Amino acid sequence: MPAEAPVPDHDVVVVGAGPVGLLLACLLAQDGIDVVVCEQRDGDDPRSRAIGIHPPGLAMLERAGAGAAVRAEALALTGGDVLSAGRVLASLDFPAERPVLVLPQPRTHALLRHRLDLLAPEALHAGSTVRGVRDEGAFVRLRVDVAHRRRELTAAFAVIADGVHSDLRTDLGLGWRRRAGRAGYAMADVRDPEAGSRALLHCGPDGLVESFPLPGGIRRWVVRAVEGEDIASAPGFRAVIRARTGTDPVLGDDVVPVAFVAGQHLARVPVRGRIALLGDAAHEISPIGGQGMNLGWTDAGRLAAALTAALADGGADLGDHARRTVRAARTAQRRSAFYMSMGTPARGVPLVAREALIRVLGSGPLRGWAAGLVTMRGL
Ligand SMILES: Cc1cc2nc3c(=O)[nH]c(=O)nc-3n(C[C@H](O)[C@H](O)[C@H](O)COP(=O)(O)OP(=O)(O)OC[C@H]3O[C@@H](n4cnc5c(N)ncnc54)[C@H](O)[C@@H]3O)c2cc1C
Repeated sequence: MPAEAPVPDHDVVVVGAGPVGLLLACLLAQDGIDVVVCEQRDGDDPRSRAIGIHPPGLAMLERAGAGAAVRAEALALTGGDVLSAGRVLASLDFPAERPVLVLPQPRTHALLRHRLDLLAPEALHAGSTVRGVRDEGAFVRLRVDVAHRRRELTAAFAVIADGVHSDLRTDLGLGWRRRAGRAGYAMADVRDPEAGSRALLHCGPDGLVESFPLPGGIRRWVVRAVEGEDIASAPGFRAVIRARTGTDPVLGDDVVPVAFVAGQHLARVPVRGRIALLGDAAHEISPIGGQGMNLGWTDAGRLAAALTAALADGGADLGDHARRTVRAARTAQRRSAFYMSMGTPARGVPLVAREALIRVLGSGPLRGWAAGLVTMRGL
């Protein structure tokens, strides 16, 4: 008689307790699935990254039971204006039934973590670094370092949600293809009691400046880098905003702008056997447009359903999850590349054509469609 496959320790091991891994774990735990999340960090992730939560992302937070807590803390944007050289080219309003929320990622993360603690208090293994994952056919085996000691874990499935620089994706040879859209930016979150509730996108001749209100009287400024301009120091950052927008931002000299490169990549193979990539490990979406975390959440919603079905019938088939992940990521990346192109420095005919396009997109017949685009309709 052939030897029986050992019973794995868990149904699912998620690698990485970022916002995407945590949301998946909440969805699985809610369905009674035995899920463990290995996270290399012991403490919080203080990085200020995502702020925008779009309707598809909010729907996933609701499904995971974290929607009410997020809505209670977040600021709801009432709309956004696109400007060039002080003129408003287009204005969109976000209706209350399709809200765009703003909440700094560390808070969203904390609320998801709290939700997981309520659903499955033992699920999060902090201080656990996964060094390797292998598909053994009937189960997966993970090598995990905990406090300098090597452990092994087995599970029916492994979900790799270890972020954009995923070492495991590289080890598994799942590919990482560059996609269109790449530029440098700097951002700063500053105190501003007049921040209001509308997003302002300045797409003028000298390059993009974005301004978003955050809860608690904070404003985020995002400035596109242009060669020869200093946006690394507070005085330089402020001078560039003033020159490009015509307004003097409320921004003290103690502010330290954070530089980042917005790039786009897509994994070649998002699912192999019992191993699935998720979130930024599967696709990097440019932050311009604010879709990366939200897209990771919608992928997590689909993956949770696929895992639940596979576990119920004892198989390893995750259905069309890989195909749909790739399709959604390509759509989001095309949209982000378009948003980035609207903020490149431009002069003459290209600038006139761009401004005309923005005006058309903000005009009566197309306004609803454009609002759907920026609020991630269909993703
Ligand atoms: C400036 C900026 C602004 C952004 N704004 C938005 C926005 O407004 N809206 C939006 O939707 N998105 C936005 N994004 C993108 C968003 O931040 C990411 O899409 C999101 O953080 C991805 O979450 P994740 O869980 O996939 O990965 P991460 O948040 O990167 O989490 C990965 C986790 O895995 C852990 N880990 C890594 N390796 C291992 C290992 N071997 N073992 C165990 N744990 C491991 C890490 O410690 C980390 O906690 C922005 C990004 C940037 C840079």
